[in-house]
Amino acid sequence: MKVLKFGGTSVGSAKNINKVIHILDNYSKEDNVICVVSAVGGVTDKLLLAGKQAQNKDNDFLNTFNNIKNIHFEIINKLNPSSNESIITEVESKLSALKSLLDGIYLINELSLKTSDKLVSFGESLSSFIIAETIKSRGLSAVQKNSQELIITNSNFTKAEVNFNITNTNVQDYFKSAEQQITILPGFVANSTLGEQTTLGRGGSDFTAAIVAAALQVKQLEIWTDVSGMYTTNPKLVKQAYPIEKISYQEAMELSHFGAKVLYPPTVQPVLDLNIPIHIKNTLQPEAAGTIISNDDTIATLPVKGISNINNIALLTLQGSGMVGIPGFSKRLFETLAQEKINIILITQASSEHSICLGIDETDSEAAKTAIDITFENEIALHKIDPISVETGLSIIALVGDNMKNHQGISGKMFSTLGKNNINIRAIAQGASEKNISAVISEKDAKKALNTLHEQFFETQTKQLNVFITGVGNVGERLVEQINKQKKYLKENLKINLRIVGLSNSRTMIFDEDGIDLKIWKEKLASGEKATLNGFFEKTKALNLRNSIFVDITANKEVANLYANYLRESIGVVACNKIACSSNYENYSLLKRLSLKYNAPYLFETNVGAGLPIIDTLNNLIVSGDKITSIQAVLSGSLNFVFNNFNDTNKFYDVVKQAAAEGYTEPDPRIDLSGVDVARKILILTRESGMEMNLEDIENTPFLSDAGLKSDAVDDFYQTLIDDEAHYQDLYASAKAKNCQLKYVAQLNDGKASVGLQKIPEGHPFYNLEGKDNIVMFYTQRYPEQPMIIKGAGAGADVTASGIFSDIIKIGND
Ligand code: ADP
Ligand code: ASP
Ligand code: MG
Repeated sequence: MKVLKFGGTSVGSAKNINKVIHILDNYSKEDNVICVVSAVGGVTDKLLLAGKQAQNKDNDFLNTFNNIKNIHFEIINKLNPSSNESIITEVESKLSALKSLLDGIYLINELSLKTSDKLVSFGESLSSFIIAETIKSRGLSAVQKNSQELIITNSNFTKAEVNFNITNTNVQDYFKSAEQQITILPGFVANSTLGEQTTLGRGGSDFTAAIVAAALQVKQLEIWTDVSGMYTTNPKLVKQAYPIEKISYQEAMELSHFGAKVLYPPTVQPVLDLNIPIHIKNTLQPEAAGTIISNDDTIATLPVKGISNINNIALLTLQGSGMVGIPGFSKRLFETLAQEKINIILITQASSEHSICLGIDETDSEAAKTAIDITFENEIALHKIDPISVETGLSIIALVGDNMKNHQGISGKMFSTLGKNNINIRAIAQGASEKNISAVISEKDAKKALNTLHEQFFETQTKQLNVFITGVGNVGERLVEQINKQKKYLKENLKINLRIVGLSNSRTMIFDEDGIDLKIWKEKLASGEKATLNGFFEKTKALNLRNSIFVDITANKEVANLYANYLRESIGVVACNKIACSSNYENYSLLKRLSLKYNAPYLFETNVGAGLPIIDTLNNLIVSGDKITSIQAVLSGSLNFVFNNFNDTNKFYDVVKQAAAEGYTEPDPRIDLSGVDVARKILILTRESGMEMNLEDIENTPFLSDAGLKSDAVDDFYQTLIDDEAHYQDLYASAKAKNCQLKYVAQLNDGKASVGLQKIPEGHPFYNLEGKDNIVMFYTQRYPEQPMIIKGAGAGADVTASGIFSDIIKIGND
């Protein structure tokens, strides 16, 4: 004898029912089969909805009823059994009984738990009848038996407790003489000892099958559902989840108790003592191996077997200094909840006994509060304890594994992983057996928590980075290209799964939670939604993805003003925009503090010297204990380009225009030529050296003509370059006369910074700088005479993009 159970999706359409029949046909060739079926997927919910509507005198109950009716007739039509007529007559009669019951509820305005059980039992009654009759009509030996005649319970409606003595005898007696090869039983439904209709609790068809399997002591129980087994975590929420091949009864129970809906928690109990394995299989993919739940002690030794979660949790907290002295406090508390039939999902108690936290279903929270406040009325009045506090909108996340106890530091890893992703933990519970570690968190963080914990415990090799880029102009476009080219390498070699989830230019923005397809991003972006800076932030925040990084490739002040918001959401910031780092010192240090506090990296290597590792090197010197004594640098790729190309055979205006056309200057060339850009850079280096400084503190000796300095529009400025050509030719001639080169130099000496054009003599390290090259010389305590020198291309879209890219990778490698 074999016992198989098929769930709601498995019997949810004619197509799937045909699959079920195919499976039963094959099985029944070898042995007799008992097949427990659920109601057609979604029908139990609809029956309850119709009941509620009727009770509330809402005429929509008729629509819901018709919907239930249509669902069943559509299935019958598509199954097209040869005995169509008689099936339709019987189904109509069942539906008319259902309609009468709903009319009754409507009339008396009342829906007791007892009536509710009567109501929902129509779901399994209809499905089991239709399936049994279809099988018969196809010439197989089958019968439908009503489980209500076999499974006997108490009268605890909606979640009745089974009387195993009577039930086991009934089941054994019936199947002793059952002749048909296939017996179809409705799951979930039962009768009380008084003959009332009861049910075994939502999801209870699994339990029905386990009860029958245990009563008959079969070799194996098979639960056929819509996924290929019990997964490492809910596959609907975590794409990387995978089926667990083998799992112990205890682990399966813990996972299902904490929300792995694939198995109704009480299911394990009846088969556990008899050592009957449960095999979870996928009706939609019967060839998949599925999961075996058993006592097999060769089960692999991964410490964490699975992660599950339950939403809609309320946390009740009782506290008060007088709690220690209250006799039988816990007993009274638990009795109160038991009387209200409130199930406690999680308990934590501080060892001082000054506070106790209980996790319960949110729908029970009001009843729980009222009852507990009444029980402890006196103690509350005497201020021995506070009135109970209730927090809702929470979720429990549970790590489960028999073998966790043999591994150190699992809980530490769990909490630090959650903490790193800015997920606040409200309560923690760890069973003494260490098979389970649970944390209560906000429901809005549940998906992120599952994904990040799954990555931590099951995909340790890969880390997903979710990148949101604002400003896909010249540099941004190169960055996207570089990422696209390098994705595969990063995955294979660094185990980083880098995805661009959000993209924006000044006009439009797009998001794709699964990663934007980088082959067609331009087309997608062109038809994206209207971009706003705040809209981009809000959407990034709402997606709430782990390891999120905001990348700013603009030169925009408003964008820089939003960094604090991103950091506060634990979203890392990578910026080539230097406005924030060179803004007032308070803002700079605030961003640094937020980055530490929220564990969100804030990196801006490209603020100085584009892709050159200048800030990184400086940071390494400082963290290893060195001290900066002086910095000498040529930090403007654009000014270098200008002064390396300008001479007495060309025009200053033409050279500046060329620098702009090559993308070396800021969009507004005055920012470069006035020295402001270089001043910002030396300011950033000074701050990163550990000194407090503001832009006004930097001495800036301008080289522009008076008119150039005064112009307040870009076009006017360009005109001054033409008009004042002689001024610039004089600068060139005076340097040439001394056999010097003109270089725009930034320096930090004795805590003072300055920028300005200098005549550099032959032999000086700056003399031979070419093109758009930058150079930085760090004089430090460890490098007092021969400075640490970094030199190379300090401007250009490709090198800037690669600097941003390496900041992103740096976060991934952390
Ligand atoms: P059935 O109707 O077949 O009884 P259920 O909907 O009750 O099916 O249970 C299967 C569903 O359980 C899956 O579709 C999945 O969404 C959910 N689920 C939650 N956690 C897990 C898990 N760890 N493994 C597999 N499925 C899970
Ligand atoms: N039909 C019932 C429910 O939806 C029982 C089951 O499917 O297991 O809860
Ligand atoms: Mg189920």
